[in-house]
Amino acid sequence: MTPTTSSWVEGAAGSGFDVDHLPYGVFARSGERPRVAVRIGDQVLDLSIVAAADMVDTHELFDQPTLNPFMAAGPAVWESTRAWVTGLLTDQTERDLVEPALAPLDSVTMLLPFTVGDYVDFYASEHHASNVGRMFRPDSEPLLPNWKNLPVGYHGRSGTVVVSGTDVVRPCGQRKAPTDELPTYGPSQRLDIEAELGFVVGVPSAMGERVATADFARHTFGVVGLNDWSARDIQAWEYVPLGPFLGKSFATSISAWVTPLAALQAAWTDLPGQDDPPVLDYLRVDGPAGIDIEVEVVLDGEVVARPPYRTMYWSPAQMLAHTTVNGASLRTGDLWASGTISGAEPDQRGSLLELSWGGKEPFTAGGRERTFLEDGDEVTLRYSAPGTGGGRLTLGEVTGRILPAR
Ligand code: MN
Repeated sequence: MTPTTSSWVEGAAGSGFDVDHLPYGVFARSGERPRVAVRIGDQVLDLSIVAAADMVDTHELFDQPTLNPFMAAGPAVWESTRAWVTGLLTDQTERDLVEPALAPLDSVTMLLPFTVGDYVDFYASEHHASNVGRMFRPDSEPLLPNWKNLPVGYHGRSGTVVVSGTDVVRPCGQRKAPTDELPTYGPSQRLDIEAELGFVVGVPSAMGERVATADFARHTFGVVGLNDWSARDIQAWEYVPLGPFLGKSFATSISAWVTPLAALQAAWTDLPGQDDPPVLDYLRVDGPAGIDIEVEVVLDGEVVARPPYRTMYWSPAQMLAHTTVNGASLRTGDLWASGTISGAEPDQRGSLLELSWGGKEPFTAGGRERTFLEDGDEVTLRYSAPGTGGGRLTLGEVTGRILPAR
C-alpha cells in the first residue's frame, strides 16, 4: 500500500476526494464550452487549462465535451495522466500553474460524463435475484436454472442514461395485476429504484474477438454510481418472455464523476464463492475479483439501506467476458451495470421492492411509512470504498427527484 499523501488543495485531505481518488468528469460554466476535469476536495481542476499550460502532449483529450476520447486512449495514457495530476496536486511548486484552473464545484454544472454506447444491465446479486424470484414466482425455485452458470443481463436504453441531478418523470404504461382481468394504462403505481454500480468501457474490442476476464482492466476505464429506475407494475406485466423493456427504459441515472479503476486498488476482494456449480473456463477469474464498495440508499433524507457490493456473486470482469464471448464488440462508452446490489440482511436491500417486500411490508423513511416512490421523492445513492492512502474514497453520488406523470 502506498504511503498516505495529501494534496495541498485546502479541504482535500479526508474529504474522500484526495489524490488517492481523482475521479474524472465533464463540467460547464455559463458561456464556456464543456471540458474535462478531475475533482479534488470540493473543487474541480480544469485539465484542459493545466494540460495546455504544462505542454502535456495529450492536452486535446481534455478540451472535450465528453470523456470518450480520453477513455479511448487506453491504460498507458490513463496511468501517465494520473501520475501527472497527482504530481500537480501534491507538489507545492505547482500551485501557480494549478490554482488558476481550480473552481469551486458549486460554481460549475456537471454534465453527463461520457457518451453512452451500448447499455447492458446485469443481475449479479444472488440475494436480489433470490428475493425477486420469491416475490415474482412464489411457487417455484427463487433462482432460475441458468443463474449460477452465466451472468444474466438485458440490453437497456443508452439514450435515456442521464447525469445525477436530472429529474425523472413518473412513467406511464400498461400494467396488469394477476387478479386483474384486463391490462390498464396509466402512471406507474410501483415506481422503484435499483442501487447499482456501472462500469464504463474505455478501449474498444473488435467484432469476432472475445475479451478475457484477465483483460478487464485493459478495457475498463472506471466506475460510476447508477440508479436503474424501475416501474415494477409495467415490468411485471411485460417481462415474460423477452425481459425488461419499458419498465426500465424511461431513465437510468449515473454519477457525474467516474472513478478510475486505478483508484480502487485497495478495494479488490474475493468473490463470495462460485464452486457450486463451478463456472465454465471463460468465466474463471484469478485472484480477488470482487469489489469492496459500501452503498447507502437515501430516501426522504434518511438512509434506508446499506447494500454491500462485496456480496455480489458475479464480478465485473465476468460480466465483460460474458458480454463478448459470442464475439460481440465493445465500443468506447459502453456501460454495463451490476444489477441491484442487495446483501443478505433486510437493511442491505437495494430496491424498495425488496425493502417493502413487494409493497406488503411498509418501511419507515422521513418519519412516514413507505413502499414505492411518491411524486416529489428524492433518492440519493452514496458510495464509498477503501482508498490506497488508508482512508475512504467517496464515489460518485447519484441523485434524482420524481416528477408527476405527464
Ligand atoms: Mn437493474
